[in-house]
Amino acid sequence: MNEIKIFCPATIANISCGFDVLGVALDAVGDEMIVRKVSEKGIRITKLTGQDLPLETEKNVAGVAGLAFLEKSDYDGGFEIEIYKKIKAGSGIGSSAASSTGAVWAMNELLDGPFSKLDLVKFAMEGERLASGVAHADNVAPALFGGFTLVRSYEPLDIIEINTPSELYATVIHPQIEVKTSDSRSVLRTNITLAQGIKQWGNVGGLVAGLFTSDYDLIGRSLVDHIVEPIRSILIPGFDEVKSGALKAGALGCGISGSGPSIFAFSKGETAAKKVAESMKNVYKNIGIDYDVHVSKINVEGVRMLDV
Ligand code: ADP
Repeated sequence: MNEIKIFCPATIANISCGFDVLGVALDAVGDEMIVRKVSEKGIRITKLTGQDLPLETEKNVAGVAGLAFLEKSDYDGGFEIEIYKKIKAGSGIGSSAASSTGAVWAMNELLDGPFSKLDLVKFAMEGERLASGVAHADNVAPALFGGFTLVRSYEPLDIIEINTPSELYATVIHPQIEVKTSDSRSVLRTNITLAQGIKQWGNVGGLVAGLFTSDYDLIGRSLVDHIVEPIRSILIPGFDEVKSGALKAGALGCGISGSGPSIFAFSKGETAAKKVAESMKNVYKNIGIDYDVHVSKINVEGVRMLDV
């Protein structure tokens, strides 16, 4: 096999109380890539459609992640990569993670799997370092493993796969506004009180337990963020209305996806998730902001091969 075509899922990170640690992969939205083995050494991005992003290897997260892979590999050829972007960069649903994860996953398949999934997460994290300055794993891990993942620790890197209840659906709305990453980062406080910590880890434990036991009510009760959401949501126009409307429409919970501006909600069943989508759309129709909306099953497989 010299060439493969793959689907690279969009992901929701910073799931409410699971700020910086909990993420999940989506099924209805993602990029496609074609990766090809070539004799010429190195990585070349030969095609990129859908978004205005750099083709230079060192400036594209797929290239940077690919180089991190090659550095640890004893393969002495190279790869060509074509990227068909469907996920908008900077939307808050893991656009860069889809490209960096897809690149290293496909390269590993083409070389018959020399690396473990954990190794691949580490290579893809180098792409995240290029995109945001921080080599975080909370989008990359669900993109690679599928389903919900917990980044329990970075030193050493420890990723825990969490069960996905079969009727869980996500609704994501991306209001077409720019929230600068620097702004969404600079509003964060670096200290929390013990009382805030206690509430937050109570909810993280509750959410993980609810996912493992498919207890939808517990999932809903636990999708609460006392620390980051109250501050970051100020940067997203309409956030409070979107959230209260989504909960009224039947969502289990609702929060900021990644560092925004996308907003996600989880629901039990597709019908409920679609109703939530309608309520979210109405808020932005009324404010006069354009949006993209996705209703998606949870992707439990992660990056996958497509027929060429
Ligand atoms: P989000 O997670 O909010 O969707 P990202 O954090 O993924 O957005 O980052 C997008 C940043 O990464 C942009 O600055 C973009 O220019 C850069 N970037 C470089 N290569 C890619 C790529 N292949 N796909 C997406 N973004 C890329």
